[in-house]
Amino acid sequence: MIEVTLLGTGSPVPDARRAGPSTLVRAGDQTFLVDCGRGVQQRMAAAGTSASALTALLLTHLHSDHIADLGDLLITRWITTFGPDPHPLSIIGPPGTAEVVEATFKAFGHDIGYRIAHHDDLNAPPQVRVHEHTDGEVWNHGGVTIRVAPTDHRPVTPTIGFRVEFADASVVLAGDTVPCPSLDGLAQGAGALVHTVIRRDLVEQAPMQRIRDICDYHSSVEEAADTAERAGVGILILTHYVPAPQPGQEDEWRALAASRFDRQIELGDDLHRVLVHPGMGVRPAG
Ligand SMILES: [Zn+2]
Ligand SMILES: [Zn+2]
Repeated sequence: MIEVTLLGTGSPVPDARRAGPSTLVRAGDQTFLVDCGRGVQQRMAAAGTSASALTALLLTHLHSDHIADLGDLLITRWITTFGPDPHPLSIIGPPGTAEVVEATFKAFGHDIGYRIAHHDDLNAPPQVRVHEHTDGEVWNHGGVTIRVAPTDHRPVTPTIGFRVEFADASVVLAGDTVPCPSLDGLAQGAGALVHTVIRRDLVEQAPMQRIRDICDYHSSVEEAADTAERAGVGILILTHYVPAPQPGQEDEWRALAASRFDRQIELGDDLHRVLVHPGMGVRPAG
């Protein structure tokens, strides 16, 4: 079984009720954070985990809303890991990730210096291992395998989706993308597909062109549902809502997805949790 928790269901627009894009995936004794949006660590605490408990950080792309709290995560993991020989955090992302991580450490260079000078048991800066990939298997440890494939979020490029497999259960995390054959392939037969979505019908009515521009490179609810249908996934999990649904409006979103995909559809607020069981026999967390 794989457990998926929507830590942050928001978007670049600050929202009182929604943290920035982040999803927690627990498989066996491994914990993966997928993207690292605004406020992610408060939601991780609410979900019963922490920066120091992460097995790896997976980044779908380098848009600000998906990496906003990277510095906070890296520094917090560093100062809250108390063992003598801290395990480096694996960070898997598209090309460009190493540069972003390096620049983040540079931005926090003063902080890192203060803490090393102050604490006798902090002798080295935070340790990470960055792996940049666009395709293929990127993880194979303790029964968990992770595969990536390119997505299409142009002009943002390169961008990737992840497929996490554990004990015959599988979850695909599409990130921000329009429908594309490589995502269809990655999601084929998966137990669940976590997909970021926008309401094209609403966003197209915005008076500002800059807002309407986001239609260029995101899937609508219907397009995400079409992808789920083509790939034959068991559960479609929607997140990264634009505009954010107000309380009571979730059914409208669900109906749009249900017009194209007739299996289980999940959406909700931050901390919404879905259990993905082996094969297609899938059901939500009780
Ligand atoms: Zn994006
Ligand atoms: Zn985004």
